[in-house]
Amino acid sequence: MDLEKSVNPTSTLLNQCQPNQYPSQPVSTQPVPISTSVNPTSTHLNQCQPNQYPSQPVSTQPVPFSTNDLPISTSDRDNQYPSQPVTNSTSDHLSQYQLNQLCEVERSVASLRADLPPAVEELRHAVETFRMRLETTEHLSWLGFYKKGIGEPLGNLGNSHPYWKNVQYRRKAEEEVTTVCSKFREICDGVVGLDTQELLRLPSFNNWAWKDWEILFLLQHMYNDLGLLSKFGIETEVFRKFLCRVYHCYNQVPFHNFMHAFCVTQMMYGMICKCDLQRRLGDLDVLILLTSCVCHDLDHPGFNNIYQINARTELALRYNDISPLENHHCSVAFSVLERNECNIFKNVPAEDYKKVREGIIRCILATDMARHNEILSDFREIQEFSFENRAHVNVLFMVLIKVADISNEARPLDIAEPWLECLMQEFFNQSDLEKLEGLPVSPFMDREKVTKPSSQCSFIGFVLLPLFEALGTVLPELDVRHFDFLF
Ligand SMILES: [Zn+2]
Repeated sequence: MDLEKSVNPTSTLLNQCQPNQYPSQPVSTQPVPISTSVNPTSTHLNQCQPNQYPSQPVSTQPVPFSTNDLPISTSDRDNQYPSQPVTNSTSDHLSQYQLNQLCEVERSVASLRADLPPAVEELRHAVETFRMRLETTEHLSWLGFYKKGIGEPLGNLGNSHPYWKNVQYRRKAEEEVTTVCSKFREICDGVVGLDTQELLRLPSFNNWAWKDWEILFLLQHMYNDLGLLSKFGIETEVFRKFLCRVYHCYNQVPFHNFMHAFCVTQMMYGMICKCDLQRRLGDLDVLILLTSCVCHDLDHPGFNNIYQINARTELALRYNDISPLENHHCSVAFSVLERNECNIFKNVPAEDYKKVREGIIRCILATDMARHNEILSDFREIQEFSFENRAHVNVLFMVLIKVADISNEARPLDIAEPWLECLMQEFFNQSDLEKLEGLPVSPFMDREKVTKPSSQCSFIGFVLLPLFEALGTVLPELDVRHFDFLF
């Protein structure tokens, strides 16, 4: 993605970039604690800054990398993302009367569709399936119906009710993955500068300043910094292939993309360091937490569980409407790990691997917001938290990844605001599609109903704050009141 390379005046990171170095001499290295301020102004997404390679790379020997050995075979599927849905682009030019009429027609079409006789429904399904086949089968492209890039599910999920039905989201083009991974290979033997190492532990870390291949490099640094590669016999080459495959499996959707996975991982890394969780929990648990974050939204299509269930997609059918997306993320994660060349756990003893698998599944499934109240009340019910009590720690794991997952609002405004823009865009894409398909529309996703301030106030007040406060009782290091410089 070529984002505008404007300099962000409030960035703690960018303004200090030196030639041929990662940023040094940061203006402020003060930790920014979990805060809950709402950004009243809107900024644009174009916040990507020019950035530098790491200081003094040990070796810049490029290691050729090809996506040929990726676990998922993809052709170039760089399709059109419906960023300007028909319903939105036309509505600006229509009178209210015309809009009402359009809505009426939409409603009657939707009701007609709901009442189709079985034979017609069967025929419609057959036509739909045939159309989909024409649009997604490359060797039939000469017929002129083939659409490059329509997403196919990762893994063999069947195609009776494909969850990508009518959803044209972008998978990464193979060339893009190859380019990013090659650039990662060029810098991956380098060393992250000391200032960047410091910043990487803080919520004020500015993700918008970094390119994807540098983000891969920073992820590698986190694992190395915590000594996870050496402690669990993870071969460097295997780890790098794992990272590249993870990168490949994130889609180009507005919010739930690779950069989001990085931000969640970086927040978790910051909490692990700040709260000394490696000493309190142990290396294996830290490995579980970090890897769960890296993988927690793999192959997210940009349409949430409500859509999956209402549209009766393949994922909803497969997982019986129970956290379809989270189950899918988890399944894709272990599909990647099943491949020998990227199985970072292959040297982990069987007994520990069992714990790793259980832990990652628990963490990723906990990110379903439908389970928010259940997990929060389980956590609150713990009377005297003990790191020796496995049941307590298991709930803590879920709270930690949930906090990391929704922690954008705990970042400085110039970093948080673009994320809100991304989230709204993803919501609007979904609600536009739901309107087109005659499906129920969540009010908080409806571009005609939601406003940023009101949605943020509700989210922060009812979801984020109670969760953060609960975590603060067990890990007081994260409590905002301990950061004196704020007051
Ligand atoms: Zn997430």
